[in-house]
Amino acid sequence: MSDLVASIRERYLMTLAAIASAAKKAGREPESVKLVVVTKSQPVEIVRAAIEAGAKILGENYAEEGVMKLQSLREFSAVEWHMIGHVQSRKAQLVAANFNLMHSLDSLKLAKRLDRFSGEAGRQLPVLLEFNVGGEESKGGWPAWDEAHWGGLLGDVAEMLALPHLTVRGLMTMPPLGSTADFSRPFFQRLRRLQEFLSRQFPQADFSELSMGTSSDFEAAVEEGATFVRVGTAIVGARNYQ
Ligand SMILES: *Cc1c(COP(=O)(O)O)cnc(C)c1O
Repeated sequence: MSDLVASIRERYLMTLAAIASAAKKAGREPESVKLVVVTKSQPVEIVRAAIEAGAKILGENYAEEGVMKLQSLREFSAVEWHMIGHVQSRKAQLVAANFNLMHSLDSLKLAKRLDRFSGEAGRQLPVLLEFNVGGEESKGGWPAWDEAHWGGLLGDVAEMLALPHLTVRGLMTMPPLGSTADFSRPFFQRLRRLQEFLSRQFPQADFSELSMGTSSDFEAAVEEGATFVRVGTAIVGARNYQ
């Protein structure tokens, strides 16, 4: 094992252990939480090392960068590739044809395009709906910080549930950046309440997945019900932006 793989493996296993203890603390099964290793802006060699270190799910934010990486790492056929970043309409085809799960579906327009391209590719694309539970202008997702207005989300959600080539699996959020996990906790709780609200409104639909929590706050997210956590820097180190 190279030094790079060994050091990523150590941090990967530490993260898994922290997830397991947060799950136990909340009375949950550790296996109910899946770890997405976020490799955006990391070179292919780091992604390869992450896979060799044990990563089963990789999270990418940019369609072209993600597709380039998954094509160069085709030999690892068991690995899943998840899109976690905002996708522009003109990149919908790349995402529909290549990714295993889209966490960051944030508009009805994009949903319709992904549905069309998934159909053309002969695929069914699993998606999570992204909600903005913090109220920051810069964050993506349907506005959901004001619980009194959740009824206004139902029309779009109903339309997405009816798209034949998308399968809605749950909800995702990226809360405002805070310095502590306890800052993020109320946002995670709000996403969980929204999950309960949508499940009551659409009892036949599946909203069971909750994608929330990053390096700085994934343990709080697990305590609040996350089924996917998206962890980058804590496992693969800082990103080198060119
Ligand atoms: C970058 C990113 C992450 C990972 O953040 P880290 O702080 O590196 O763990 C998780 N989710 C989304 C949507 C991201 O863009």
